[in-house]
Amino acid sequence: MERVYNFSAGPSMIDLSVLQKAQAELCCYGDKGMSVLEMSHRTPMFMDIYSEAIALFRELMGVPEGYEVLFLHGGATLQFSGVPLNLMTNAKKADYIDSGNFAHLAIEEAKKYGEVNVVASSRADNYIYVPDVDAIRFTPDADYVYITTNNTIYGTRYNRLPDTGCVPLVADASSNILSEPMDVSRFGVIFAGTQKNIGPAGLCVLIVRSDLLGRENPLCPKIIQWGEQAKNDSMINTPNTFAIYMIKLVCEWMKARGGVPAFYEYNQQKAKILYDYLDESKLFHNPVQKEYRSLMNVTFVTGDEDKDTAFVKCCTKNGLLNIKGHRNVGGMRASIYNAMPMEGVEKLVRVMADFEKNNA
Ligand SMILES: *Cc1c(COP(=O)(O)O)cnc(C)c1O
Repeated sequence: MERVYNFSAGPSMIDLSVLQKAQAELCCYGDKGMSVLEMSHRTPMFMDIYSEAIALFRELMGVPEGYEVLFLHGGATLQFSGVPLNLMTNAKKADYIDSGNFAHLAIEEAKKYGEVNVVASSRADNYIYVPDVDAIRFTPDADYVYITTNNTIYGTRYNRLPDTGCVPLVADASSNILSEPMDVSRFGVIFAGTQKNIGPAGLCVLIVRSDLLGRENPLCPKIIQWGEQAKNDSMINTPNTFAIYMIKLVCEWMKARGGVPAFYEYNQQKAKILYDYLDESKLFHNPVQKEYRSLMNVTFVTGDEDKDTAFVKCCTKNGLLNIKGHRNVGGMRASIYNAMPMEGVEKLVRVMADFEKNNA
């Protein structure tokens, strides 16, 4: 069986060596006599896997002392409620930057719990850029400032972080975590759904500065109280044990390949191949302002819906899957996360160039 290049926005590619390792260990993990799928989460054999996954993730991200790393349920989306329920409790207000669909969803959710100030937005311009963070006037007594570091659907990313003074910066980094260096010490909270760069779907990894724990709204469900989860090794109830094991394997693979700096270098090369082609092309173009171009999600259009549809079909025929853009924006999107090899991007560009020649 031949594997395709899967350009899906998530769940997305996992390196074949990682899948094969999981396959080899599926029925019997080491000398334990059982599958990870069968292990009680309370046993030392599983706790070893959990601790290794946490330690490797901390090492890859360079998480400093004074921060907790949690594996939570409900993907990134549950934290759209989790963030205000844990943090919007003092002034009961927070600043949000609306830079894309997921930021917007987070805003809508947060409004249930307090005053949400949308301090900057690119929504009226179809999110083709990220608002200029230096031009924003933040609310001095806000409980936090919320950003989405990479906008998965629109293909934009922050090229610098806002200076929020002593107001904690909270980031949804679902689609660019582990793809480029992040200075964790600049953030109060970073969270990410796991299905893009970390492993399988369903989990959320959350990094939180310890002094931000214990501020939760009394109505916050215990399962998303970060402080409670930190005290219980993320195991107030049964976690997604297999996904945690897969995260361990992905982190091992990343570490063996040089960690985040090596992937950042590789990701820049991959994205450059695509953007260079798009800048030359007479048929395809990238609708995003250049300085905010994402390294992970590359969007492009022909401007003609029939041609877009024909191109997506052509890709599928050539083993390049899930290239269709999000329903909100149409066109195409190539998600090129850490596990997308250079060869996949090169092949995509070849198919684009052929299609352009045949549709001139
Ligand atoms: C994918 C994504 C989400 C949603 O993740 P779920 O795990 O499906 O909840 C949220 N934010 C961003 C930036 C994403 O890319």
